[in-house]
Amino acid sequence: MQRASRSTAKWLAADQRLEQDNEPIEAEPRIYAPIREVPWHKDAACYRQGDELFFHDGRAGAKPAEDAAKQVCNDPCPVKAECMRASLEKRERYGVWGGLTPRERKNIFKQIDLGNTTVDEVVGLLCD
Ligand code: SF4
Repeated sequence: MQRASRSTAKWLAADQRLEQDNEPIEAEPRIYAPIREVPWHKDAACYRQGDELFFHDGRAGAKPAEDAAKQVCNDPCPVKAECMRASLEKRERYGVWGGLTPRERKNIFKQIDLGNTTVDEVVGLLCD
């Protein structure tokens, strides 16, 4: 297990404030195809799950759906690290990927842009 650096601890603390972040998340355009095209997806825990569990509009009532999707990712999913890395590297704005919601990724992107952490560090911390 990788130790959390001070910078990682900082963004995790910021993550805890996300519940108070009421900034609306854009409705997603329901782009499901890319995850079906990556080679590791055939091993995914969500391989036979409906896409609607992972993609929704992020507005009222979304949290229970997000929690259900996160539970599939954390059950565990054998390709969670690959999935999380892909979503962070391509700055995915929609859906639950690697157990992270759009709002959680948004916070991580801010911390990466501030130089407080990296994709490698986040994946190592959250997937080890
Ligand atoms: S981490 Fe979640 S979204 Fe990603 S492949 Fe696994 S179950 Fe699917």
